[in-house]
Amino acid sequence: MTETAPARARAEIDLDALRANVRTLRAKAPAAALMAVVKSDAYGHGAVQCARAALEAGATWLGTATPEEALALRAAGLRGRVMCWLWTPGGPWQEAVEADLDLGISGLWALDEACRAARASGRTARVQLKADTGLGRNGCQPADWPELVAKALLAESEGLVRVTGLWSHFACADEPGHPSIEAQSKLFDEMVTYAQDRGVRPEVRHIANSPATLTLPDTHFDLVRTGIAMYGISPSPELGTSADFGLRPVMTLSASLALVKHVPAGHGVSYGHHYATAGDTTLGLVPVGYADGIPRHASGTGPVLVGGKWRTAAGRIAMDQFVVDLGGDEPPVGERVVLFGPGDHGEPTAEDWAQAAGTIAYEIVTRIGTRVPRVHV
Ligand code: PLP
Repeated sequence: MTETAPARARAEIDLDALRANVRTLRAKAPAAALMAVVKSDAYGHGAVQCARAALEAGATWLGTATPEEALALRAAGLRGRVMCWLWTPGGPWQEAVEADLDLGISGLWALDEACRAARASGRTARVQLKADTGLGRNGCQPADWPELVAKALLAESEGLVRVTGLWSHFACADEPGHPSIEAQSKLFDEMVTYAQDRGVRPEVRHIANSPATLTLPDTHFDLVRTGIAMYGISPSPELGTSADFGLRPVMTLSASLALVKHVPAGHGVSYGHHYATAGDTTLGLVPVGYADGIPRHASGTGPVLVGGKWRTAAGRIAMDQFVVDLGGDEPPVGERVVLFGPGDHGEPTAEDWAQAAGTIAYEIVTRIGTRVPRVHV
């Protein structure tokens, strides 16, 4: 995508910022390898471009949720280690083995699928056994771990799989001092030790996501898996701002003001008339809406920078557009409206939108729709 992208709206992706963030994160975990988590189109930033930039800056692994996302990276020519972890029966197991992906394995059925795919392709499947140490999502329960480990070792002895990793995922790493952090770390240690004592020789053991990479050095093990921090966003306001961690937001979302008009006092604005003008004023039309991922929950609260001033979404955010009360100002049609960016030119951040919508900044950037062109700079 180039400068000729349509001007209605665009999401500018600053790949230099992403590279700098990767270097910052590597410095936080100097003894560990870094996996760039580029699932969900790199949290809305463009998976292939971000994956390439992250590798240039020193990441040595890529991570996705679905195998389809991982295979798309391979199809784009990305080599090296790529891991994916969200499997369902009937998934592209054989293609994944043939593409040399590392397969996150949460249970026996998945290990069986990996073995079947290895037999069918005549290759060894790289598997990483996932322990549920307390997140309560995917991963193998401690009670089922001995059987998973034993079956994986048997499959390894038959040349069907190679156990390349042992791993888990935190539930509350973004809540400083949460007791589950210590409990999960301890259980992970025990489950790893159990497997290693029985002969598993993993290349990598890992549990740390962005908040753990930033604040819990004891949990870094051999590899850290960073998503949100790599995109320059703090995992949680409780931990600090992105600037506190030396991270720079990568995405700037802007739109082109589509209309400016004078209206009298008492003029209802947008569906439901949840906003009415307090006096004679000017309204500006911002041509993006919830179809573009702008959260409807931020109706009445979502901030933008236009003409050097913060304005908030007046009334309901609609599918394709919303309105700001310009208070009598008359910026020209076509004026750039910045919804969020790094924040250092006075514009709101994705974290501000998250607060306005009662959600997390992960959701703000990930949901920006495909109708908004990504412009990688
Ligand atoms: N590891 C796994 C298994 C994940 O699902 C995710 C994202 O949710 C991450 C790592 C990256 O998390 P974060 O974006 O907090 O760094």
